[in-house]
Amino acid sequence: MLPAMPDRETNFNGTIAFDTPSSSPAAAGAGSYLRPASRDELVDALKDMSDRGVRPATIVVVGGFSSFEFPQLSLADENSDEALSLRGPTSPHLVVDVSAMNRILHVDKQSLTVTVEAGITYWDLANQLREKGLAVENLSAYPEVTVGGASGTGTHGSGHAFHGKNLADQFIALEVVNARGDVQRVVDPRLFTHLGVLGVVTAVTLRCIPMFFLKQTCYEFADLDAFDSLRIGAFRALAETDDFYSTMIRIDLVDTTHHPVRCYIRTVATDEDDRAFQPTFLGAPLVDNIDGEEPSVFTGAYYDVLPDHTTASRVQVPAPGTYHQAEYFVDNRLASQAVHAFLREADKDDRFITALPTGLKCRFVSSDDQWMSATSNVDDVELYLALQLSLYGSRSEIDAILKRIEDCLAEAEIPFSCHWGKLCHGGHGRVNRKLKDRAKAMEAARAELDPDDAFLDADSELAKLLSA
Ligand SMILES: Cc1cc2nc3c(=O)[nH]c(=O)nc-3n(C[C@H](O)[C@H](O)[C@H](O)COP(=O)(O)OP(=O)(O)OC[C@H]3O[C@@H](n4cnc5c(N)ncnc54)[C@H](O)[C@@H]3O)c2cc1C
Repeated sequence: MLPAMPDRETNFNGTIAFDTPSSSPAAAGAGSYLRPASRDELVDALKDMSDRGVRPATIVVVGGFSSFEFPQLSLADENSDEALSLRGPTSPHLVVDVSAMNRILHVDKQSLTVTVEAGITYWDLANQLREKGLAVENLSAYPEVTVGGASGTGTHGSGHAFHGKNLADQFIALEVVNARGDVQRVVDPRLFTHLGVLGVVTAVTLRCIPMFFLKQTCYEFADLDAFDSLRIGAFRALAETDDFYSTMIRIDLVDTTHHPVRCYIRTVATDEDDRAFQPTFLGAPLVDNIDGEEPSVFTGAYYDVLPDHTTASRVQVPAPGTYHQAEYFVDNRLASQAVHAFLREADKDDRFITALPTGLKCRFVSSDDQWMSATSNVDDVELYLALQLSLYGSRSEIDAILKRIEDCLAEAEIPFSCHWGKLCHGGHGRVNRKLKDRAKAMEAARAELDPDDAFLDADSELAKLLSA
């Protein structure tokens, strides 16, 4: 028997909903919600459906349900009242929720690899690996995402050099199950940003490294001029030091004259007690921790330090539909022009300040060679600047801001791509059209792994790009 389910399951910010009717695997079909406890349970349910001739229009897989967008689906507004607006699939879908498939299957301390069920969260994986003296090399700002779901959208970590890469860069193999219940193994790394269209990812084998600790420092610079001196000079010098891990820059939007900059630097700590913090960096003072607020200067296990502690958690989302994320990637060689174009637009009125109270967060992501990664090495880009936006407001208010950002980057002739799991204005397929040629190869692989076209909605944004 499946556990009792609520009627609807919504994503992180309460803007996408899937119906969750209780259904036994044996009765499953279009409009059902399956939460298998293992790959074999999933395979049995899919084979049984296939034998009964039941073909759902589309199968959608849900991991942590943290994404703000599911580009392989066509989603429509369910309610004209914008404040309550929720989007849902336009036709009955079979939803496969893999969150109960969350075990570590095998750890190989010799080869430093771990095989996990795809529904395990990075948080659980990191904590369980620590017991064995191991760690994953990189994490996103939100470790509650699942290993299978994060790779679905090309989720990246925060950092410079290879530490900032797409998390799936650590993968060795995926196990996927198609609509017929066939189990297949994918070892071509170019497919690891899978966008949910290759089948249900049931297991992942990934590399790990010895357990490590990090310390974070944060320095406050009075003026935006620091942005380029950090990016061009200081970070390069840091990257050559042995203990460097990653950086992030936060640009204040309220002070439109100076746009002060906070620079976060993560370095490898000797242990949890390593509290030797450099008091200044390029003349800027260390930021004091304020009582009651998340500390910005501290030491801990890497999985405590890497999350962005100022990012809302699911419980902190003010009300459904009021917190959103978007993220654009530009070639780091054009970073300065991109930031100035953004700020020129932001400074025109107060709407950016209201929508982006935590400012403009800039991270650095090294490119990868995955076909559908928004940070892939297409056009010889080696390093991307990620413009990460934590946005507060209704969907239409946020959409208006995103349109202005996309327009100002286009006017400044700065090519950009967008995060597959976050919002954009122009449509993910169009914004990520630089992947057009690679999308052809992805489409061929997808059609072979999923001959029933069960995981790609023909009306979706992604289908437009894959069939272009
Ligand atoms: C607070 C917050 C902070 C974030 N920080 C970052 C960040 O630092 N860097 C970054 O890059 N992103 C970040 N994100 C975005 C997030 O990492 C991605 O949206 C990620 O894909 C979510 O993973 P999930 O497990 O919740 O997957 P879901 O949201 O459930 O699914 C994501 C996609 O993968 C598919 N999918 C999920 N599981 C499977 C599976 N097992 N098999 C096949 N398809 C599957 C889904 O159909 C969907 O297309 C953040 C999101 C939040 C809410």
